[in-house]
Amino acid sequence: MTSDPPPQLDELLKQREAHLGKALSIAHGKPLHITHGRMQYLFAADGTRYLDLVNNVCHVGHSNPKVVEAGQRQMALLNTNTRYVYDGLSEYLARLAATLPEELSVGFLVNSGSEANELAVRIARAHTGAHDMVVVEGAYHGHTGMLIDLSPYKFRGPGGKGEPESWVHVVPIPDSYRGGERDYAAELGEIVADAGPIAAFLVESMLSCAGQIPLPPDYLPAAFEHVRAAGGLCIADEVQVGFGRVGTHMWAFEEHGVVPDIVVMGKPMGNGHPMAAVFTTPEIAASFEEMEFFSTFGGNPVSCAVGMAVLDTIEQDGLMQRATELGGHFKAGLRELQERHSIIGDVRGRGLFLGIELVRDRETQEPATNEAAIIVDDMRDRNVLLSTDGPHHNVIKIKPPMVLSKEDIDMTLHLLNESLNQSL
Ligand code: PMP
Repeated sequence: MTSDPPPQLDELLKQREAHLGKALSIAHGKPLHITHGRMQYLFAADGTRYLDLVNNVCHVGHSNPKVVEAGQRQMALLNTNTRYVYDGLSEYLARLAATLPEELSVGFLVNSGSEANELAVRIARAHTGAHDMVVVEGAYHGHTGMLIDLSPYKFRGPGGKGEPESWVHVVPIPDSYRGGERDYAAELGEIVADAGPIAAFLVESMLSCAGQIPLPPDYLPAAFEHVRAAGGLCIADEVQVGFGRVGTHMWAFEEHGVVPDIVVMGKPMGNGHPMAAVFTTPEIAASFEEMEFFSTFGGNPVSCAVGMAVLDTIEQDGLMQRATELGGHFKAGLRELQERHSIIGDVRGRGLFLGIELVRDRETQEPATNEAAIIVDDMRDRNVLLSTDGPHHNVIKIKPPMVLSKEDIDMTLHLLNESLNQSL
């Protein structure tokens, strides 16, 4: 007897339709039926190879053999929880702490960026006794009830209630492309001064959903000063941009010469295995000791083995150096395209976290939202996966696995040039 053939795309879509909530969308316009991944590539059921320029979770490559092997080995040996003492946990925490400023030595291990941000806010509230929070316009910090309230990207977006809760203070996006010389930190200072007691400022070290925006050089030091003067803590959300993606530093906040009170990490931490963490100082952690903290899966032996393999791979394969070199090459190539195509208003980013902002007119900066969607769909047909984001969805995002090659980048630049010439 032969086994049944695997369900085809139409059948899979029907099953999804029946059993998955409609709140979930499918990426890349025409659905892609992916059967496997290998490093920077995803392979479709029809054999097509796609260059993945958008999945920053598989940081060291889809199904990276070193990470797979580490997880398999540990899964066959022991998996339990952090109420037991086992090899790997303390070593992993120490290894992570060593990547951070010395004072951020206490870690909490959880399973998703949302859980980690939620925990970071609880810790900040416990430490300060204050409740209110400050967030940046356009930010996304997670899918829990509290984090939707802390994510203007969501509460101002489709299905959202539009206005922030009274305990949420929203500061403008420090966008040098659109705002020119505006003093965004001073604007934050005024909002914080009017807010009353605040628990924390939750901010990405480089903005992702808000449009791939590197923070202006003086922004974080001044903003942190205002927040601390008001008694609040500073939480750096490194979920998207951490683990060396910016190339020159392991954590993007380091570029700004600041030390946050709390750092949140996630996505690439387990290369796809669900892992996230919160790191803070012993003093702040001590304010959170009254109620026991326990996460069933957070920091389990398999996660620690996987996380350690990710850190080993970043180091052994020189991926940060690679992000600097390849990111620089990519950005220079995109800047050349900008000279040829007036629709490219801005090219920005650091390392392998880049954004291409499309505008209809460079003077008015009218967002070229439809055009951005057309280019992303067209590039998918050319076997390169990209996506759009930003408040106007006119920013093409580039945040690939860090193992892509110079040839992948050159091919992308060539195809993007063709796409801009032919599809608009
Ligand atoms: N923070 C940022 C900056 C994110 O981009 C995300 C996820 N997109 C989260 C937090 C939430 O992470 P998760 O989806 O793992 O809960």
